[in-house]
Amino acid sequence: MPQTTIFAARRIVTMDPNRPEATHVAVRAGRILAVGDADCADGWGGGQIDKRFRDAVLVPGFVEGHAHLMAGAMWRYPYVGFHDRVAPDGTPWAGLTDIGEVTARLKDIDASLPADTPLVAWGFDPIFLPTERLNCRHLDAVSASRPVIVMHSNFHVLTANSAVMRLVGYDRNPNIKGLVRFEDGTPNGEVQEMAAMFPILRRLGVDFRALARTADAIRDLGRTAVRVGVTTTADLFNDLPDADLDTLLAVTGGDEFPLRIVPALNGIARPPDEVAARARDLRKRSTDKLRLGAVKLMADGSIQAFTARLKWPGYLGGQQNGIWNMPPVQLARAIEVIHAAGVQMHIHVNGDEASETALDALEAALSKHPRGDHRHILQHCQMADAAQFVRMAALGVGCNLFSNHIWYFGDQHHDITLGPDRAARMDACRAALDAGVPLTVHSDAPVTPLGPLHTAWAAVNRITPSGRVLGAAQRLTPTEALHAVTLGAAWSLKLDHEIGSIACGKRADFAILAEDPLTVPAEEMRDIEVLGTVFGGRVFRP
Ligand SMILES: [Zn+2]
Repeated sequence: MPQTTIFAARRIVTMDPNRPEATHVAVRAGRILAVGDADCADGWGGGQIDKRFRDAVLVPGFVEGHAHLMAGAMWRYPYVGFHDRVAPDGTPWAGLTDIGEVTARLKDIDASLPADTPLVAWGFDPIFLPTERLNCRHLDAVSASRPVIVMHSNFHVLTANSAVMRLVGYDRNPNIKGLVRFEDGTPNGEVQEMAAMFPILRRLGVDFRALARTADAIRDLGRTAVRVGVTTTADLFNDLPDADLDTLLAVTGGDEFPLRIVPALNGIARPPDEVAARARDLRKRSTDKLRLGAVKLMADGSIQAFTARLKWPGYLGGQQNGIWNMPPVQLARAIEVIHAAGVQMHIHVNGDEASETALDALEAALSKHPRGDHRHILQHCQMADAAQFVRMAALGVGCNLFSNHIWYFGDQHHDITLGPDRAARMDACRAALDAGVPLTVHSDAPVTPLGPLHTAWAAVNRITPSGRVLGAAQRLTPTEALHAVTLGAAWSLKLDHEIGSIACGKRADFAILAEDPLTVPAEEMRDIEVLGTVFGGRVFRP
């Protein structure tokens, strides 16, 4: 008979309404056999009691519904962001709070790089440095000859030096959409959104997503996941060519790899019928730890970069409305074709005009091709209001709100991009639940750090760094937030029948916490120490 291990804990928060609390969980062959007291497995012949976590609290393994494999890989490049961050190996990187500090770090790196290597840095965000905007002149001072690019934290914008602009001919074609200009009309090195950024990345041989698919980068993500209690993560934009798929299958297939990955196929680079066919093919290669078959579409850009598409009255500072990564006609066509093929879609929408456009397209597709449980998800969906949530509920569309944004960018949305009214209803978790929309919340790592306790904390408290409560009416209870980062995220990835709660028959995936997230003071939820994870019944420690 297979072995049974019974994990004893101070408390087990199950997220199963039939048995919300327990002290013991019995595990056999990687699955949950029984939940209850010390004798819960007696009917199954009992088992070996594991008391290592008897003082800890077990919750369902956290599920991150929107992150990127790049969360491991980006640390191959130097970080130049505003907030302090920790690399997967535990190395702290100090945040940089003015452009002088950014260029000083870049100069240090320039001095240590071989001559023929481009200098690539990431994590920068101009919105935190309002007195001066990074441009090519700053980066020319780092190097006049070596190509230098600084990828902004949202991955929707980069700033390049003049050597890069010359290399791709942008100095001679200043009218290309997405190039920001100096007052005299010449490009200033800032390049916005995918169509304008791709030629640069291609020319420099920089492919963050390909790098993210190397075995080491995937293992780094696994290491980070254990540190923050995550046992399943989405990877919401992946080209998934066969060679990289083999690497993903090999790494995730190893017993020592502690993470289930759910990649979504890049749905904007190829015609929708090809995307749909590829997604359906990929399904057949799914394993327990690599779940394939969903598609990611991308409607607009990012609010803090002023590239999201907003309804009236637009940006607070009067900036021009954002950039479509998929213009409405193309988006509607893709949504119809991919939906008709029976493929689940995760649709990136940040601004409220983008959410509305996606909802119009989904409504049209659903009326032509009715389908019950399509499980399409609006991702980020940061400016959706009560009326849009009502439409989502009517269409059976779920949402994955970017609660971490309230902490990382909330003050900037209040003061600079949207103003107090709309900032207060950003990532409106309460409105979503009230309308009956299935909800999860996310980090979009590496845009903000992977860490569901922080993501849940942000949804519960809605506090900004200046101490403001941004939109008190939209706060969740700790139980609702914990649901959002476990069962809610599992639902969005079509895995709620297997993971997301601690219940008989489900996979034995737990986060091991030093404190109970439902009873600590709500403002301390993000500070709870994560002691490790149990993945498929096996213990992993950071
Ligand atoms: Zn993302």
